[in-house]
Amino acid sequence: MTSAITKLFFAGIFLLAFSVNAQNETYTRDSVVADTTFVNLKDYSTDFVYDMKYATADNFLKAKVYDCAECMLRYKTVKALIAANKEFMKNGCKIKLFDCYRPLSIQEKMWEIVPNPEYVADPKKGSIHNRGGAVDISLVNADGVELEMGTTFDFFGIQASHNFKKLPVPVRANRKYLKSVMLQNCFNSFDSEWWHYNLKTGLKDPVSNQKWECD
Ligand SMILES: [Zn+2]
Repeated sequence: MTSAITKLFFAGIFLLAFSVNAQNETYTRDSVVADTTFVNLKDYSTDFVYDMKYATADNFLKAKVYDCAECMLRYKTVKALIAANKEFMKNGCKIKLFDCYRPLSIQEKMWEIVPNPEYVADPKKGSIHNRGGAVDISLVNADGVELEMGTTFDFFGIQASHNFKKLPVPVRANRKYLKSVMLQNCFNSFDSEWWHYNLKTGLKDPVSNQKWECD
């Protein structure tokens, strides 16, 4: 009998500790995180498809420059991106991510290869990617198939521009759909790259060169 009571006592302590811990977690996520804090998108949503090109050698640098495929962004960018994704999900689509926050040292490597501000921001000024406010994205349908956007990600040519009109009607419709939902959710588009979106309030945040933790 004494033993049973002891067990119940410890079970009660365990449950109490667990509930306090759970409350703390909620409190930290929802009330304490500042809009400009860098966070990992996957801690806030599992509704995104990841195709982080710089965590592989399948990119124009021809090198794997990220140790792991994480999408780090400032918290305000994460909130806006989740809101946009919820809108796409109403139509059976999801956001596919190619790149998120990018350390300044990677920006410098990119600039060495493509020193053209139409496609790569000069590291002296810094890209919004370096500020945690930009994403490179496309859309996938309910079967996980990427919608046709006319060019691959990081295609450095006029065909990637929002102003390029000689594209099949469905491609133009897909780009227009992506752009309209992103613009409604606090992002700006970038004329020469259909995949790039900047958080409107992300322009003045400082550039960063921190790397993220890999498991
Ligand atoms: Zn970009």
